[in-house]
Amino acid sequence: MIHESEAREYVLERCRVLTATPTPLSLLTGLVLAQPVAATQDVPPFANSAVDGYAVRSVDVADVPVVLDVIAELAAGAHTTMVVGPGQAIRIMTGAPMPDGADASVMVEDTERVDGGIRVRIGRSVPCGAAVRTAGDDVLAGTELFQPGAVVTPMVAGVLASVNARLVLAVPRPRVAVLSTGDELVDDGSPLQRGQIRESNKTMLLGMVAEAGCVPVDFGIVRDDETVLEAVLRDAAESCDAVVTSGGVSMGDYDVVKAVLARIATMRWMQIAIKPAKPFAFGLLGPRNVPVFGLPGNPVSSMVSFELFARPALKKMAGHTAIDRPVLQAVAARPIQRRPDGKTHYVRVSGEFGADGRYHVDTVGGQGSHQLAASAAAQALAVVPDGDGVAADGTVSVMLLRL
Ligand code: AMP
Ligand code: MG
Repeated sequence: MIHESEAREYVLERCRVLTATPTPLSLLTGLVLAQPVAATQDVPPFANSAVDGYAVRSVDVADVPVVLDVIAELAAGAHTTMVVGPGQAIRIMTGAPMPDGADASVMVEDTERVDGGIRVRIGRSVPCGAAVRTAGDDVLAGTELFQPGAVVTPMVAGVLASVNARLVLAVPRPRVAVLSTGDELVDDGSPLQRGQIRESNKTMLLGMVAEAGCVPVDFGIVRDDETVLEAVLRDAAESCDAVVTSGGVSMGDYDVVKAVLARIATMRWMQIAIKPAKPFAFGLLGPRNVPVFGLPGNPVSSMVSFELFARPALKKMAGHTAIDRPVLQAVAARPIQRRPDGKTHYVRVSGEFGADGRYHVDTVGGQGSHQLAASAAAQALAVVPDGDGVAADGTVSVMLLRL
């Protein structure tokens, strides 16, 4: 058995960041930038009113109340060549450009239209610059906004839109082929014959791939047949950036994934000192050296193996530098029992933040590697080192899968 860090290093070393491509703004959210982005224009592009109200000369409203002539109306998107002179005001809406002559806006709540609407009484004095957003107040032209490696969050995408960055070099989402293997698997809803079971891993892994920010590609269930499996794997490695298989990598006589990959790919077969998910295979397939993750077939093992080895690698391929789930020091609500066996145990736990600000975890039901239903309730994986487990109120590291 090897330590999990060795397997992780082995995998990460062999997974390369995908080649960046010019990407339209509409597709950038969730991707990682591969170029610096500098603003080519000011945001906002012109001085404008921050309020609905009146554009005035601040000297005119030094003593209030005062009545000013309303000489025009200015909506957002409009502009005027009229100049606000002494004793004058322009009705202005939020975002409309400040007219020449005016140096402040008075919000409408501090005003009242008088004399049949041709004049306005200003009830509050405002200083020069009040409620005016100057050009470049948000972003000045020339400012370096983002560096390569920045993750495009929805807000970042909004900023890119605001500076008209419409085509930006970014790392694409890895396309990830997912396939299940096994003669016993059924996924078409038909009645189970003796010995058959319902497929679950592919459904789960396609979702996990998507949740990791990649494009999942469903390659179906492949029977335990070497010829068929070889064709499917080659096809997957041709059309995708990575391949995730489940099943067929342990010690069984029909572990055809093992037989085929050993022949057509450069593989390393690992027994990792963890529970669940001891067997794991990784290698490179085809002329493009596409990473292949051979996950174990037991559903919970598949999940843990994906979390520990495939997910960080796929994140890396997508250009992320933060590739790991957050790890917290949590409090065990009840003892987490185990016996020494030379392995680190990844115990599925539910968890919540308590009034004390700490994260409290409790083991979910069945911890068997086939008991996916119990694991589905987990928010985190508790990392329980080799030994006798964790006492009640003891501290335990947990990998947060979700909040
Ligand atoms: P294997 O690694 O192929 O020997 O599979 C180990 C166990 O996981 C067996 O009990 C399989 O029936 C089960 N298994 C394999 N693949 C799947 C799958 N896609 N969905 C549900 N169970 C599976
Ligand atoms: Mg099998």
